[in-house]
Amino acid sequence: MSVVIFIDHADGHVKKASLEALSYGAKLAAQLGTTAEGILLGTVTEDVSALGKYGVKKIHHVNNAAFDQLDAQVFTKAIAEIAQSAGAKVIVFSNNLSGKAIAPRLSARLKAALVAGAIALPNTSSGFVVKKNVFSGKAFANVSLNTDVKIIALNPNSFAIHMEEGGAAEVVNANVTADAPKVKVTATNKVTGEVPLSEAELVVSGGRGLKGPENWGMLEELAKLLGGALACSRAVADAHWRPHHEHVGQTGLAIAPNLYIAVGISGAIQHLAGVNRSKVIVVINKDPEAPFFKAADYGIVGDAFDVVPKMVDAVKKLKGVS
Ligand SMILES: Cc1cc2nc3c(=O)[nH]c(=O)nc-3n(C[C@H](O)[C@H](O)[C@H](O)COP(=O)(O)OP(=O)(O)OC[C@H]3O[C@@H](n4cnc5c(N)ncnc54)[C@H](O)[C@@H]3O)c2cc1C
Repeated sequence: MSVVIFIDHADGHVKKASLEALSYGAKLAAQLGTTAEGILLGTVTEDVSALGKYGVKKIHHVNNAAFDQLDAQVFTKAIAEIAQSAGAKVIVFSNNLSGKAIAPRLSARLKAALVAGAIALPNTSSGFVVKKNVFSGKAFANVSLNTDVKIIALNPNSFAIHMEEGGAAEVVNANVTADAPKVKVTATNKVTGEVPLSEAELVVSGGRGLKGPENWGMLEELAKLLGGALACSRAVADAHWRPHHEHVGQTGLAIAPNLYIAVGISGAIQHLAGVNRSKVIVVINKDPEAPFFKAADYGIVGDAFDVVPKMVDAVKKLKGVS
C-alpha cells in the first residue's frame, strides 16, 4: 500500500504544480504511515532521483519519449498499470490541464473515487474526507471518499512545496509500453520568451478600462519588471485587443498566482471565477463601486493611466533600473 503521485513535465522540466503534488503526497503518506512514490512518464533533462527531496522514496520512470506528448487515454492506461503494480491506495495529481484530463479517466478505469480541486490534506480521523473548492471558490465541500483506491487532484498553488535536505529517490525503470496515440497532434504553437500564465507566480491583467490594445505597453512593462505574466478579461480578448490564451475566468484559464494585479477590470463573477484563488489580489479601478474591490486584498481607486506608470517608476527605483 502506498501513495503514488503523477509527475507532470513540460520541455524537459517538472512542473511547479507537480512539486506541490509531490509534497502533498509525501505528507499524506506520512499521515497514513506509508511511503510516497512518483510516476514519471517521458523524458526529462533534470536528475530524477533528486525529486526525492520532495519526500518521495521511489520513482517509477518510463524513460520513453513516446510519453513526452500528453495523450490522456495512453497515459491513463500506463498510470493504471504502474499504480496497480505499486499497490497504490491513493493516487495524487495536480488539478492542472494534465490532471484534469487523466484523473477522471483513471477514476473510471480503477473504479476509484475522485476528488478534483482538493485544497488540503484529507481528514482521516474517521474515514477519508477531502476539502475542495466549489462554486468557483465561493464555498467549500468536504468530500468523503469510500472506495478502496482513492484519487486526489490537488488545486495548483493550494499546498506549499516542502523540501528535505539531500533526499534522493530510488529510480526504477517501469516496464510499460506506450499504446499508439489516439490523438494526432498536427501543430503546436508555443508562446516563447514569456512566463506561461498557468505557472506564473505574478500576473498583471487588464480589462476594458485600458480603452484599447495600444495601451498595453505599460502593463507589459510592469509584468516584465516584476517577472510576471500578462492576462486579460474576456471582454478584452473578445474585442481582439489581446490573444485568447491570456483570457482568464470561467470560460478562460483559471489561475492561482501569488499576486494578481487587475487593472481596469470590473470584477464580474465570471472573471472572478478564474482568479479568486490568487493569494493576493490588487485592484486598480477608477470606480470606487467596482465589484472587484470586494474581492481585493489591496485596492487603488484611480485612473490606470495615472497609477500604472507610477507603479512602473516605483518598481524601477526599487530594482535600481532606469
Ligand atoms: C457565460 C459567460 C461567461 C463569461 N466568462 C468570462 C470569463 O471567463 N472571463 C471574463 O473576464 N469575463 C467573462 N464573462 C464576461 C463578464 O461577465 C464581463 O462582461 C467581463 O469580465 C467584463 O470585462 P471588463 O471588466 O474588462 O470590462 P467592463 O465590465 O467594461 O469593466 C471595465 C472596468 O474598467 C474600469 N475603468 C474604466 N476606465 C478606467 C481607467 N481609466 N482606469 C481604471 N479603471 C477604469 C471601469 O470602472 C470598469 O470597472 C463571461 C460572461 C458570460 C455571460
